[in-house]
Amino acid sequence: MAALTEFELIDRFFRRPESSADSARGIVLGIGDDAALLAPTPGNQLAASVDMLVSGRHFYADVDPEALGHKALAVNLSDMASMGATPRWALLAGALPDADAQWLKGFARGFFALAKAHGVDLVGGDTTRGPLNLCVTLLGEVPAGKALLRSGALAGDSIWLSGALGDASLALAHHAGRVVLTAAEAAACWNALLQPAPRVALGIQLRGIASAAIDVSDGLVGDLGHVLEASKVGAVLELASIPRSKALDRQLASSAHDIALQCLLAGGDDYELCFTAAPAHDRRVVALAIELGLELRRVGTIAAEIGLVVQDSSGPLLPLPQAYDHFAA
Ligand code: ADP
Ligand code: MG
Repeated sequence: MAALTEFELIDRFFRRPESSADSARGIVLGIGDDAALLAPTPGNQLAASVDMLVSGRHFYADVDPEALGHKALAVNLSDMASMGATPRWALLAGALPDADAQWLKGFARGFFALAKAHGVDLVGGDTTRGPLNLCVTLLGEVPAGKALLRSGALAGDSIWLSGALGDASLALAHHAGRVVLTAAEAAACWNALLQPAPRVALGIQLRGIASAAIDVSDGLVGDLGHVLEASKVGAVLELASIPRSKALDRQLASSAHDIALQCLLAGGDDYELCFTAAPAHDRRVVALAIELGLELRRVGTIAAEIGLVVQDSSGPLLPLPQAYDHFAA
């Protein structure tokens, strides 16, 4: 096959045909000019976030391109979810080692399937040759003043988690030979790592209910720690109530207990929401779980005293596992 030029590549894989629905979707001008022109909904604020995925750092270079296309958008959708924002427009900047049509086709399939599921339109980007690196910028909207911030948690608030934590990092521990999973467990954990389901619908429903929210991308201890710091409060978590899969539970009960605990509390790549809400909303949150068909667990309480305490049956857990940090030694 003849090599693709930069513009053929954009046209073939990333540019969707113009449609009469574009203006209803807030797109005055999409891909093709020097900038897209967008028309935000009056009365809303724009939520803007960007996330970069670097080969060898965030994914293995031989990862399935379709899974990578999904994940590149999913990690950004998760940031919109944690703000309570409705995702609308994406920009995709990519450095690619070569214009491999098979690879691009898979990547675009994963990216656009998730974009469609969330009503997101790709309105621009940048494409260059270089070591594989993907950077998605996402713009969303939230009614003015309704965004979920990290800074709103109050003493006495319930702390909630969606889904289950730890499986994505358990997949990596399995890959590194540090734990041994059954084939079915490993498949489920790889799926959690490669195909995270951003909790966008939950975030939107939490407007007016949650006092603070964050998405768990770097591990619960670190990410809840950001909420506590921003809100100038502390928290007590019950270890037994932190949601986890049967696979992770099995590891917790094995000689790999410490590794499993690290995955659960500080693993990262979970993309679940951790949020706080006044206890008066507890029943509303339980009802929301049923409405959304999504597990929501109350895992602890915000405290006035600074500091994060994780309790198990024998008292506070010491030391607490450390969160992931790209620049830590
Ligand atoms: P510029 O020279 O202004 O950087 P480009 O020639 O890089 O513009 O891009 C041409 C058009 O294609 C622009 O509208 C840009 O937003 C869009 N574009 C480039 N790469 C991508 C991509 N990977 N996905 C979506 N749109 C892209
Ligand atoms: Mg460019």
